[in-house]
Amino acid sequence: MSFRRDDSKLRKCTHHGSSHSKASLPLPTTTSRAPLQVKPHPPWEDCVWLIRMLRVRRPSTILWGLFLCGLFLLYISLPSPSHGSCDCNETGSSYPLTGNLLDDSNRVYPKDPHKLALLIPFRDRFEELLEFAPHIHNFLASQRKNHHIYVINQVDNLRFNRAALLNVGFLESGVDCDYVAMHDVDLLPLNPALVYEFPSDGPYHVAAPHLHPRYHYPTFIGGVLLINRQHFRKVDGLSNKYWGWGLEDDEFYARLKEAHLQVARPGNLTSGTQNTFKHVHDRRVRRRDMIKCHNQQEVTRHRDRDTGLSTLSYRIQARKELTIQGAPVTVLNVVLECDHSVTPWCDCTESIGNTPRDPQQSAKTQDVIVPRLNRKKHLTQDG
Ligand code: UDP
Ligand code: MN
Repeated sequence: MSFRRDDSKLRKCTHHGSSHSKASLPLPTTTSRAPLQVKPHPPWEDCVWLIRMLRVRRPSTILWGLFLCGLFLLYISLPSPSHGSCDCNETGSSYPLTGNLLDDSNRVYPKDPHKLALLIPFRDRFEELLEFAPHIHNFLASQRKNHHIYVINQVDNLRFNRAALLNVGFLESGVDCDYVAMHDVDLLPLNPALVYEFPSDGPYHVAAPHLHPRYHYPTFIGGVLLINRQHFRKVDGLSNKYWGWGLEDDEFYARLKEAHLQVARPGNLTSGTQNTFKHVHDRRVRRRDMIKCHNQQEVTRHRDRDTGLSTLSYRIQARKELTIQGAPVTVLNVVLECDHSVTPWCDCTESIGNTPRDPQQSAKTQDVIVPRLNRKKHLTQDG
């Protein structure tokens, strides 16, 4: 497909929608293509220049010239139908204008019809977000991936619930995004060979055990997981029972396995656990909430067949659009609701410590989602 070079239109697009600036993104590191240079001068200067060049003296000619210039200015100030924002809720929005659209022969890069919603479960990780948002935005722009970042910010007083927040993000990111990345805010992809392609056949675990800086057990699917909307719905999203740190991703793995969804992972990368991702996590500063109370330990070791996307209960308190160093971000302030009769461990302030084990439950082995880990073999103390 060929495309006429139209610098005036490109200039307009780079200016339109200031909160979604798309002009300053870096180039794909794997290509030698130069960015289109966009001169920052006001467009009416072109008209003045034209009239001067033509050396017109007759008033009627000048009037005609002004009229034509007016039409030209009107044309370039209209919103472009083909370079919309990549906010996934915008139905019909097209490929974002990130960096250069044209190659050396003035051909447009092939459009990727798929749209990725990055779902970031979040609470009190501001410094990490400031680093993450521009990094991932530039990383994906280099891959020419149409994406939008959703920060799912838990603002209630309950314990953090990563899984329920991902369910919220899935529902709120809109059907125009046809796949999601369940993405930790403190995990930054470093190797450009990591791809965030549409996972048509089944979930794609980007932060694979042989690449993640900390977790290396074979069934690990945390950190960064891509899944298309159809598959996410098929397994009813994630369990809502996991308040506090851990096991929600293992329970999700059990769901995928039961649904016969095969998890694919990157192969043939030259990097490993030390240099594929940066994990911005000091465990003394960002303490993991490993408290257990009531019968949490017992229940959360097992597969949950009762809760998920279809039973989620929440309220959006606010929705804010912001830009972090050129990266458009939607922040959703979310109030999760907890049914204390089902998961009393959503708030452990009154009672810390487990209730005695129910021998009947303990005997139930077929639904155990994760075996006890050999910490030496499957865990690296990375921060
Ligand atoms: N998270 C958060 N606030 C918290 C706990 C977790 O925002 O108080 C989010 C954040 O995106 C983080 C992810 O949940 O990257 C996973 O949590 P954490 O980093 O503690 O787990 P790890 O994988 O390092 O064990
Ligand atoms: Mn972490």
